[in-house]
Amino acid sequence: MLENRFVRHCVSIDDFTESEVLELCRSALKKPPAFRPIDPAKPAVGLVFLEPSTRTAVSFIRACQRIGLNHVLVLSKGTSIEKGETVEDTLRNLKAMGMGSFVIRTQVTGGLQGCRDLGLGPVVNAGDGVGEHPTQALLDLTTLLDLVHWDEGRLRALKIGIYGDLRHSRVAQSWSKLARKLGIRLTLMSPEEWRPAWAVDHDWSDSRSAIKDQDVVMALRVQRERMDGPAAAVTEAFVNNFRLGRRDLAEHQRLMHPGPINWGVELEPDWLEDPRSLILKQAEMGVLLRAKLLEWVLETKS
Ligand code: ASP
Repeated sequence: MLENRFVRHCVSIDDFTESEVLELCRSALKKPPAFRPIDPAKPAVGLVFLEPSTRTAVSFIRACQRIGLNHVLVLSKGTSIEKGETVEDTLRNLKAMGMGSFVIRTQVTGGLQGCRDLGLGPVVNAGDGVGEHPTQALLDLTTLLDLVHWDEGRLRALKIGIYGDLRHSRVAQSWSKLARKLGIRLTLMSPEEWRPAWAVDHDWSDSRSAIKDQDVVMALRVQRERMDGPAAAVTEAFVNNFRLGRRDLAEHQRLMHPGPINWGVELEPDWLEDPRSLILKQAEMGVLLRAKLLEWVLETKS
């Protein structure tokens, strides 16, 4: 347990100071992590993905490959987690087999605190239920820092609007914390049924009329797998009132989306080739940011 005090984790945006956030994102762009050959003697990274993932899982794999770390991918399907093994027991066994750090995605909101308290090594949150997705918010911030040519004044002055299924979005909750940390003004837009409790910290509206005032508009996926009852019933009204097409943004505005996209639901399919879309840039930045982040958590805190 004592060891745990000196280990860095990334379970929440709360694990970072404001200057650590900026340093991490700036260095991902300005001093991209060097390509290193795999060192088989180094502890490997355990990538434990208990919910579906494409971008997050692949970018962590690419990040490990880039900085010379072996990785092992553990999915719930086909492993003993399907037989009822707890995540904690899985981690203890991965540690015994040479894993020194853990990137975990779980369906349990807040479920990573227990993993962190095990003291087995750094824990990185790759998405916990409807809790947080800190590395997505950090890679989004890196994408924006690139957009404003590393000018922190311009970054903090950006007007960012997030619309869609806020209630079930761990990305949006991490963004809420990030925006408060950096003093960035966030405007949230969603139907009332998708308004989360933490929206009180920001401007919130049940219409998308504020979209025209934003520099950057972030669309969120409608997370049908997490909805029932009244939350699911508003999907059709949301599509009619919020779905964003190319004509809805001005020339200077930029579009982001953490993916995966429900084309025709939150976005019209005409966005694919539009130069105002930063969506593939976000995927590209994910590898750089996650490689830097792995280096950061693997450094011992003094
Ligand atoms: N990929 C993001 C997440 O895992 C967003 C989403 O699934 O809609 O939270």
